[in-house]
Amino acid sequence: MDHGRNCAGGRRAAGHRWPLIATPAADLAVVGLGPAGRALAHRAAAAGLRTVGVDPRPDRPWAPTYAAWVDELPSWLSPGVLRTRVAQPRVWATQPRTLDREYGVLDNPALHRTLDLSAVQTVTGTAAALGRGVVTLRDGTEIRAARVIDARGLRADPALAEQTAYGVVLPSAVAAPAMGGAECWFMDWRRDNGTSPGDPPSFLYAVPLGGDSVLLEETCLVGRPGLPLDTLRRRLDVRLRNRGVEVAADADFNVERVRFPVEAPRLRTAVMTFGARAGLIHPGTGYSVAASLRAVDDVVTALTVGADPAKALWPYPTRAVRSLREIGLRALLHLNPAFTAEFFDRFFALPTHRQRAYLSGREHPAATAATMWELFRTAPMPIRRTLAAASVRRS
Ligand SMILES: Cc1cc2nc3c(=O)[nH]c(=O)nc-3n(C[C@H](O)[C@H](O)[C@H](O)COP(=O)(O)OP(=O)(O)OC[C@H]3O[C@@H](n4cnc5c(N)ncnc54)[C@H](O)[C@@H]3O)c2cc1C
Repeated sequence: MDHGRNCAGGRRAAGHRWPLIATPAADLAVVGLGPAGRALAHRAAAAGLRTVGVDPRPDRPWAPTYAAWVDELPSWLSPGVLRTRVAQPRVWATQPRTLDREYGVLDNPALHRTLDLSAVQTVTGTAAALGRGVVTLRDGTEIRAARVIDARGLRADPALAEQTAYGVVLPSAVAAPAMGGAECWFMDWRRDNGTSPGDPPSFLYAVPLGGDSVLLEETCLVGRPGLPLDTLRRRLDVRLRNRGVEVAADADFNVERVRFPVEAPRLRTAVMTFGARAGLIHPGTGYSVAASLRAVDDVVTALTVGADPAKALWPYPTRAVRSLREIGLRALLHLNPAFTAEFFDRFFALPTHRQRAYLSGREHPAATAATMWELFRTAPMPIRRTLAAASVRRS
């Protein structure tokens, strides 16, 4: 649907202080106002850059349940953007483990409000073409800015590995038997979802959302393609039944359907990309929101001092970390399903700082490599073979 045509002239501005559209006066045009683009536009405007933000629906509330490790969030963001926090999330791969790392679910309306765009000229429209210094909308409107940044997110593509999941939001009391006393299951790989060891695996992700509700989500971490949502839904039903969760036939509950690429194609484009589109998505976990929020100020600082923001976003260490994590993705895609639980058990047996080095942050290739080496060193031989092959294969 071309939302750009819904409003007169395909344009609308909110809270702007300077002339509208087609003005050469803008310093920055951000195309796409998801969490990444909105954060970039917000911080750029706060730093004094004249900023335009373009999206078909700039005010659309974000529907996905976004979560992050609390220590990943940038210091400029108020802790009020978290709706729930869990000090010690749990994992069950081959045995139960407790993680010493705080995990939180973002409060999307609060994040939206915090990333306020009142100093940004927002344009309701769909970009048809992005070029150096110009964005052309589908209705022909041209937006000019000294710098254009593409934050349009990622589109499903059969060539890309993806994450899929099917989740239900249940009252805590109803979900309790599935939780087994835990507040949060970051990953629960137990096979009580009706699968056998040779089947492509999926895990239960279970997080409290506050307001006395819990999200229970059967998740295919990565696949090319990911497991179909119908399959995940069936597995979740079996798992919940096996654990004694009883959902009344007429119960009304929210459902979350998840499907998104976990890798970004490395395109050579004239326009700089940001957010998931730029590869700020972790290819082994699918997380990108915290990484994008954290990276925003590198880009904004470069823009304010006249440096190259793409170089600021991707200095050498970050490119090395990205390549290492792509090896991790290839390992996951080729891992024998019978060894998945063992693999994750070894990973979560590593000290927290080693886990963190692989899961979060983009600046430390040596620490990322050290985690991968430690995992390789301690893994059983079949897993080692997969890890070694992943470092030389191309997909
Ligand atoms: C259900 C679900 C749950 C997820 N959970 C997590 C999680 O817990 N933690 C995490 O870190 N990540 C999670 N992700 C993955 C990922 O972080 C998100 O996909 C995140 O939304 C990416 O943010 P983004 O701003 O880069 O891109 P998007 O959120 O995809 O935003 C892109 C924006 O660009 C706009 N746009 C697209 N095309 C155009 C165009 N032509 N012109 C103008 N605007 C355009 C869109 O309207 C949209 O607003 C989840 C994803 C899904 C789908």
